Amino acid sequence: MKNPALKLIDTDAAEKWQQILADLITDPKDLVEFLALDPAGRPPGLKAQQDFPLRVPRPFAERMEKGNWQDPLLRQVWPDREEEQAHPGLVTDPLAEAGFNQQPGLIRKYRGRALLMAAPHCAIHCRYCFRRHFDYQANTLSRAQWQQSIDSLRQDLQLREVILSGGDPLANSDAQLAWLLEQLASIPQLTTLRIHSRLPVVIPQRMSRELLAMLSNCRLQTVLVIHSNHSQELDARCQESFAELAANGITMLNQAVILKGVNDNVPALKALSERLLQCHVLPYYLHLPDQVAGTRHFLVDADEARALIAALRSQLPGYLVPRLVQEIPGEQSKTLLA
Ligand code: SF4
Repeated sequence: MKNPALKLIDTDAAEKWQQILADLITDPKDLVEFLALDPAGRPPGLKAQQDFPLRVPRPFAERMEKGNWQDPLLRQVWPDREEEQAHPGLVTDPLAEAGFNQQPGLIRKYRGRALLMAAPHCAIHCRYCFRRHFDYQANTLSRAQWQQSIDSLRQDLQLREVILSGGDPLANSDAQLAWLLEQLASIPQLTTLRIHSRLPVVIPQRMSRELLAMLSNCRLQTVLVIHSNHSQELDARCQESFAELAANGITMLNQAVILKGVNDNVPALKALSERLLQCHVLPYYLHLPDQVAGTRHFLVDADEARALIAALRSQLPGYLVPRLVQEIPGEQSKTLLA
């Protein structure tokens, strides 16, 4: 254990997160009722709902403001009719990942790093998601296929970091994660494990004592990149579990997306950075949204985003100003915009 003196968070989390995952809000009518919204205010897009169904964990819905169609958390999950409009330039694979997905479950873009699609599903469906059209079915692996992918990583002597992505890697059971971590830790040249997950935000109960112990006992330096776009997402329970993770040697970073109507203003971005710091998480990246089919209503112009970062810089210390980046297909790394 990296810091055995610290007691891991003791919650009733272990038994709860899977129940919460089994009881997601999936019917738009139920969400409207739960939030006491006027149903006439924003009828759902039926095709949008069919193509990428609503999925909202109840602990996340509880952080939405009742009766407010403009709520920034609601906007991120609501299957809007605007998604059904086709727009030139918006595509289903905006990062051209298919070309790097030569082995099921594995994406190799950068030397020294490999990305494992560690789960074929998420706890929440974020409407702006760049993988909302990804072929998860073709990338759902059996244990034997996992073993093959891990064996191929073992042959790459340049490999230093494995990134667990998805879907959401923490949607796996603890038993599955334990097996995966054990396999990865046995690759001698590997030094770092990076986990990208929105689950610690949307179902903080996921950060069970067992999971915290597993991560802090792992031989690999562990970096947990949470995905939070708005300060309202980070409640006291998130803060408590992130503090424990940080205290146990896990590096905590946040990756956000700048989204129209959610966080495309200085007060929202400033509040997010300040709230992250309270939660022991550093703001790392602010992504310009990818050019994903069905997400035009979220897009923010690069110049507008640059101006927001400049304004943030005048109000916050440098370590609280995220790097504004864009993923450009075919580029060797993310493109820094500000
Ligand atoms: S949790 Fe991440 S991968 Fe899943 S839908 Fe949201 S943005 Fe996409």
